[in-house]
Amino acid sequence: MYKTVDAFMETVINKNPGQDEFHQAVHEVVESIWDHLQDNPHYLHTKILDRLIEPERVIMFRVPWRDDQGMVQVNRGYRVEFNSAIGPYKGGLRFHPSVSLSILKFLGFEQIFKNSLTTLPMGGGKGGSDFDPKGKSENEVMSFCQSFMTELNRHIGPVTDVPAGDIGVGGREIGYMFGQYKRIRNEFTGVLTGKGLNWGGSLIRPEATGYGCVYFAQKMLQTKGDSFKGKTVAISGSGNVAQYASEKVIELGGKVVTLSDSSGSIYDPEGIDSNKLQWVMDLKNVRRGRMKEYTEKFGGEYWEGKRPWGAKCDVALPSATQNEINKQDAETLVKNGCICVAEGANMPSDPEAIEIYLENKILFGPGKAANAGGVAVSGLEMSQNSILMSWSREEVDEKLKTIMSSIHDACEKYGKEGDFINYVKGANIAGFIKIADAMMDQGVV
Ligand code: NDP
Repeated sequence: MYKTVDAFMETVINKNPGQDEFHQAVHEVVESIWDHLQDNPHYLHTKILDRLIEPERVIMFRVPWRDDQGMVQVNRGYRVEFNSAIGPYKGGLRFHPSVSLSILKFLGFEQIFKNSLTTLPMGGGKGGSDFDPKGKSENEVMSFCQSFMTELNRHIGPVTDVPAGDIGVGGREIGYMFGQYKRIRNEFTGVLTGKGLNWGGSLIRPEATGYGCVYFAQKMLQTKGDSFKGKTVAISGSGNVAQYASEKVIELGGKVVTLSDSSGSIYDPEGIDSNKLQWVMDLKNVRRGRMKEYTEKFGGEYWEGKRPWGAKCDVALPSATQNEINKQDAETLVKNGCICVAEGANMPSDPEAIEIYLENKILFGPGKAANAGGVAVSGLEMSQNSILMSWSREEVDEKLKTIMSSIHDACEKYGKEGDFINYVKGANIAGFIKIADAMMDQGVV
């Protein structure tokens, strides 16, 4: 048995060499739950931790496809089926050149705890490919998605593993993959979430991660008797999560001053209002352009190659990608008066940045709690598919609010340290207990 967190991590690192992001995600969880484990030695005797960090199954496969010039291209596909103790594997597919086994194992590991926090019966998984949809034609994206699903289809199913979208996988890609699954399997089932509304999708699913993150931040602000009204908000990214986080902040009376993409950030001190946001949605979802065009159209500043954290703000909602806030960024945020960081993205703050938030006792909502709204509504999409019904926008939104509020309460229950709520600790312990107890009940499997 391991005597310290460091001793445990040494084994993890030796067993999974080169998987830095995975080590980072495991370390964050193990550090938070360590004392709880020592107080509950039955978990240690049954090696729950060793079992939890080992995926139940990892599938890696070749994805060959032809580009518009008729040339053969080859990508690598993955599905990490991490943990099914509380339900079928559930988690997104990411298409991005940076995708590796380490990235998908970190995301799959986080997903186990996130899904547990939603209170819905969903296990943890993640998948994707190093394919880059950027700059590809519609035909090329479809060819790739069909080839990807030609292999993936045999490993997933509505009661086995139900993937969703993530970076580079939106409604278009889900559509092409669903079509191919149906064609091969001759089944119309809820095998993917994030589907189109007229073929089994749920209202509010596209909005869910961004809205949910803002609902979570709202709950955090309420603990200080505060709200979004009149707050200046810095958001990174300009994809699905960033767009709907912006929409909800604007609706609640906040002023969004930044957005970004992988080329740079825009700073609009006047605020990105609903009309400007509509333009951004069209730019990103239809024309597939770059954020740089924003300043050409509306003014403000474009910060080439830079992240938005230099902007003065009260609230920061990082919603692009992992490790996009480092120690220096976190120090700048705090120095400029930021009182709340809620993560729309997965693991956007690196460990040193998290230390700065905790040292300064600002409100910090880690991704596995703050961005759980997306998978929660995916869970609601699965429920609607299985009862062959669809709920109204208001019904789904209400359920989303209730789930985000219950996640907040679970974090508070396990993370309260005097007047301060340590949401990292709270989320990790609350998520862990449900999974670990289910694993104990099911024996050594
Ligand atoms: P999208 O693909 O819709 O958007 C991603 C955004 O992040 C784009 O603006 C993209 O810029 C930017 N981005 C991607 N990679 C980088 C990078 N390496 N550096 C800087 N910017 C980058 O993805 P989502 O909005 O769906 O996902 C964003 C984050 O939210 C991810 O961490 C994802 O895991 C997380 N998440 C998403 C959920 C969902 O329901 N979609 C659920 C829970 C978490 P560009 O346009 O240049 O590519």
